[in-house]
Amino acid sequence: MSEHIIVVATRNPGKIREIRELLDGQPVRVMDLSEFGPTPEPIEDADTFEDNAYHKAFFYARVLGFPALADDSGLVVEALGGAPGVYSARYAGENTSDRDRSEKVLSEMAGLKNRRAKFVCALVLAVPTGPGLTWVGECEGEITQAPAGENGFGYDPIFFYPPLGRTFAQLTMAEKNQVSHRGRALAEFQSEFSKIMKWLELREAEVRPPHHH
Ligand code: IMP
Repeated sequence: MSEHIIVVATRNPGKIREIRELLDGQPVRVMDLSEFGPTPEPIEDADTFEDNAYHKAFFYARVLGFPALADDSGLVVEALGGAPGVYSARYAGENTSDRDRSEKVLSEMAGLKNRRAKFVCALVLAVPTGPGLTWVGECEGEITQAPAGENGFGYDPIFFYPPLGRTFAQLTMAEKNQVSHRGRALAEFQSEFSKIMKWLELREAEVRPPHHH
């Protein structure tokens, strides 16, 4: 079997490391965007996590000519009608910090009884010809009244996870990866890996000229 290449379509070193670790020992060569030099950037303007992740994965697959794996994630708060949702990364505007965004969620939720929220992660593997596979991981929790904890990033300090009785920012990275939206999507991806390799082989066969005997 020839070696497959998968390009991890992110510039986030943490995500790259996580995916490399997960696929360690699998018959696949994991490449990241830094190995390809300057590339154009996709625009993320779709309405759903799935569409954004597919758009990003397909964009890089087409630009680079290899299967590409992309993710899109965010926080969905029930009482805010699903906000910040796909706008999670820019919820408080340009040039704002993780802390600004968490503060904005807390102030929008002042006095609200319903604190239910979930993190969502969509993971898409797309090939240059267009087809893509999607995995979605979710993790349910509650928005706190105030930030707590120093670990993690983004909205972790205001996301309380009842089964462990702590916020995501109070978990170790290993604890968080066991239960998080991204951890769950990646775990499914990993458990289906041999099927995914088969799928990739068939997609590649579709674009190769037919054999002559
Ligand atoms: P992206 O998926 O890299 O576009 O990130 C989306 C945004 O959602 C991040 O900038 C964070 O604000 C938020 N987010 C996604 N995953 C997490 C997480 O695990 N913890 C905290 N915030 C997250």
